[in-house]
Amino acid sequence: MKNAKLLKANPKFGTVFTDHMSVMSWNADQGWANHRVTQYGPLQLDPAAAVLHYGQEVFEGLKAYKHADGSVWSFRPEANAQRYIRSAYRLALPELPVQDFLGSVAALVRMDIDWIPTQEEASLYLRPFMIATEAFLGVRPAREAEHIVIASPAGPYFSGGVKPVSIWITQEYARAGHGGTGEAKCGGNYAASLLPQTQAAQHGFDQVCFLDGTDNPAIEELGGMNVFFVKANGDVVTPALSGSILHGITRSSILQLIADRGVKVTEERIQLTQLKSMLESGEIAEAFACGTAAVVTPIGRLADTTFDIAINDGEPGKFTMDIREELTDIQNGRRPDRHGWLTRLA
Ligand SMILES: *Cc1c(COP(=O)(O)O)cnc(C)c1O
Repeated sequence: MKNAKLLKANPKFGTVFTDHMSVMSWNADQGWANHRVTQYGPLQLDPAAAVLHYGQEVFEGLKAYKHADGSVWSFRPEANAQRYIRSAYRLALPELPVQDFLGSVAALVRMDIDWIPTQEEASLYLRPFMIATEAFLGVRPAREAEHIVIASPAGPYFSGGVKPVSIWITQEYARAGHGGTGEAKCGGNYAASLLPQTQAAQHGFDQVCFLDGTDNPAIEELGGMNVFFVKANGDVVTPALSGSILHGITRSSILQLIADRGVKVTEERIQLTQLKSMLESGEIAEAFACGTAAVVTPIGRLADTTFDIAINDGEPGKFTMDIREELTDIQNGRRPDRHGWLTRLA
């Protein structure tokens, strides 16, 4: 049994893939066609394929959860499908209809259902992506593309309990700018984040946080996660979507869950200078990052070249851990899904 083997191996995130992949092909004349589930394996690409030269690519990330009764669910996959359409639009790739996105994900999950881990906090991570495959070195939107979904069993993101991360705020580089591709989920944004991420690691930090690149810079997000701050007075604040921040589905779900509690939560432009003074005065009690892969990650330390501050003594905060538990409980079918966020896949 694959699952049994996996349980023992507890592979590192994103290193093991299931037996199959979902594929759909597009060309400008015929549109989307030829949906198939094939053996997982290397792609055949012409070396002139546009994606290899101009980075015309978008992707998504979502999970399939096996509930206690054996049913398999995903969390707000329609939102992923819609974001995929918006990302594709920005990268001049074709729109994949929501139903085709959901169908391609469900087909793969049903085929590789035995791969879905059942341990606590484990899931099957699904990675849909779209690449421009036309062999053409001219600079214009490609007339051929492929949509592919691969799947990777993911154990608990934090093995050995949730650990706060340390965050380095980079003043030197931005991942996105006004009018750029920051709102699109595209590989290029990640490529731009790798050098600052490496520098953050060299400074001894786990992750890098990006600013908006203006003269009076504001906090945006991490390379792949949105951020929230919990104030000592109980209010919560997160950077407002600016055009260069990725619209996280975890972010929007958490905004809803916080509002449901009757807690005041606002989306604001948070200037770095403001944040720094709120940290120094103790106005900020907790901070966390959020995204599909790690769900909610406490931030225990925040620094740039001018300050270095522990948040909540470097420990996971209560509010942070409560929200984390509520969200993972909903995803795993342990609490009522009162917003209708779960979609059954199998
Ligand atoms: C995917 C992503 C997130 C998190 O989005 P979720 O929908 O919550 O997984 C945040 N920031 C960036 C840059 C991302 O690519």
